[in-house]
Amino acid sequence: HKVTLLAGGVGGAKMAEGLAALPDVALSVIGNVADDDDFHGLWVSPDIDTLTYSLADVIDRTQGWGVADESHRALETLNRLGADTWMSLGDRDFGLHIYRTMRRLKGDRPSDIARDVARAFGAGAEILLPTDNKVQTRVRTDAGWLSFQEYFVRERCAPEVRELAFDGLDKARPAPEALAAIRQADLIVIAPSNPLVSIAPILGVPGMSAALRAARAPKVAVSPFIGGKVVKGPADRMMAALGERADAAGVAARYRGLADTLVIDHADAGLAGEIRAMGLAPVCSEILMTTQEDKARLAREVADLGLARA
Ligand code: GDP
Ligand code: CA
Repeated sequence: HKVTLLAGGVGGAKMAEGLAALPDVALSVIGNVADDDDFHGLWVSPDIDTLTYSLADVIDRTQGWGVADESHRALETLNRLGADTWMSLGDRDFGLHIYRTMRRLKGDRPSDIARDVARAFGAGAEILLPTDNKVQTRVRTDAGWLSFQEYFVRERCAPEVRELAFDGLDKARPAPEALAAIRQADLIVIAPSNPLVSIAPILGVPGMSAALRAARAPKVAVSPFIGGKVVKGPADRMMAALGERADAAGVAARYRGLADTLVIDHADAGLAGEIRAMGLAPVCSEILMTTQEDKARLAREVADLGLARA
């Protein structure tokens, strides 16, 4: 079965690993490029790298991002030279950023680079980009406009969020591979990723939401909220600050018309009625993924939900 997953970084990669582990699933993951930024002249793509490293099983399992068994000598040198080093980039990680930047300078398509990197790492799933154009999340906070990494890494999400903007999104063109993966899928899954800064910049590429609506496959989303809280990250605070409900019902409001099923935690069963009223079928399960077994079990349930109706 062809399964296409829309995913951000850490939450997305957990769902991707679970689906990739299923023997009857051929997985394509459409990742988020709006967190991309330039560091030390190199093109860094944090969410795509988290997907690649997770699916290739070289990820640092304790932090959930970066490469395991990493050293930081290059960063030490940059620091000694007076460069800003708040973005933690390991030595092995730098190798990938150098490669990506080099290919890009040669004029290669970002989608081709991401595909080749995933294959070379043995990722076991296709990694697709929603667009080959540059799209960048900007966050307006009490401390002014920040790039996403400045907000997320340098400021550790401390400033209150007032507004989100996605530079370049309105003029971006969808990558043909991503549109084809949506069109040809037997099942489409929206990962339990941050709806505002991971999934929204994928769905917001012109043509992407329309492709999702037109797709013949069932569409199952998994909530990033468990018991009214996020597992980690700023999605809850961001949604509340922007006047949205910061719970699984808020996620349903975001995915209304785009997903037909929302998998929520047993702890959020009380929201099932409201979710159903928004046109999504609520399904309760255990949606916290800690071990590889948790990931595969939830992925099996999600796949069976959709494929049974396909
Ligand atoms: P980022 O790009 O690294 O921030 O990662 P994502 O956007 O893909 O995922 C962030 C979201 O993943 C957060 O809102 C978390 O609540 C959610 N998340 C992380 N781990 C889990 C999990 O085990 N289960 C569920 N349901 N959500 C999770
Ligand atoms: Ca991210």
